[in-house]
Amino acid sequence: MKGKLYLVATPIGNLEDITIRAIRILKEVDLIAAEDTRHTLKLLNYLEIKKPLISYYKQTEKNKSEILIDKLLNGTNIALVSDAGTPGISDPGAEIVKKCIEKDITVIPIPGACALINALICSGLNTDEFLFVGFLPVNQTEKKNKLEELKKECRTLIFYEAPHKLINSLKKMLEIFGNRNVVLAREITKIHEEYYRTDLKTCLEKIIEPKGEYVILIEGNKNREKENLILNELSLEAHYEYYLNKGYNKKEIIKKIASDREKNKNEIYQYFIKK
Ligand code: SAM
Repeated sequence: MKGKLYLVATPIGNLEDITIRAIRILKEVDLIAAEDTRHTLKLLNYLEIKKPLISYYKQTEKNKSEILIDKLLNGTNIALVSDAGTPGISDPGAEIVKKCIEKDITVIPIPGACALINALICSGLNTDEFLFVGFLPVNQTEKKNKLEELKKECRTLIFYEAPHKLINSLKKMLEIFGNRNVVLAREITKIHEEYYRTDLKTCLEKIIEPKGEYVILIEGNKNREKENLILNELSLEAHYEYYLNKGYNKKEIIKKIASDREKNKNEIYQYFIKK
């Protein structure tokens, strides 16, 4: 019989944030694949669990996946853990899950801590709809392009960021998004846990030396909603004219109108063909 792969969420700070089921699974599996075996060993010692460990990190994900798949096919039950939080979320995991699906190996989530979700629920920002971006690209041009792409997004934006890149990212966000509301969720579940709810300008004036782990949450674009409301009250011809004056071609305009009005592209296209 094939083994099973368990994706086990571990604490993001406070070691008590691990479920009873996660502890049982870590005790029951034959092998634990860990992003950093030394880091995981500390958690296992705290939980008084002794298990063979194998390293599984981003740079070796492809190669190590093959090894783990062989073991799973031979009946080994494996728990995959990252250094903190949920595996596969800005952490290794996705590669082996794809391979397990290909080989018809059962993948089971063991839910638990995840920084983005806990940052969001404490942020005070809209939680109905959100977009998790994760880490921004390191390359400054790619970073700028990514933020430009997100400028019109109405949903709450969630980013992970390293402390030494925090100021640079906030500056770029101010430059591209304008002075939006921001929440910095810092050191969630740890001693220095705090939620700084302000706007980007004030945030940049106040933060001098970022320390610890941060999740950045940016309020979605409110102007886009307003802009859309106005545009959608226009006739389709006036809506078309609006984008024509902005220099878009016919194909782009139809796509934009369809997106503004949440209609099918073809429907808009047919309207203009019949005119
Ligand atoms: N897999 C993890 C999860 O489920 O949240 C995320 C791992 S990612 C490599 C690490 C990033 O998550 C950090 O740079 C930070 O942005 C965020 N993070 C992790 N733990 C955090 C915490 N306790 N407080 C604030 N942010 C945290």
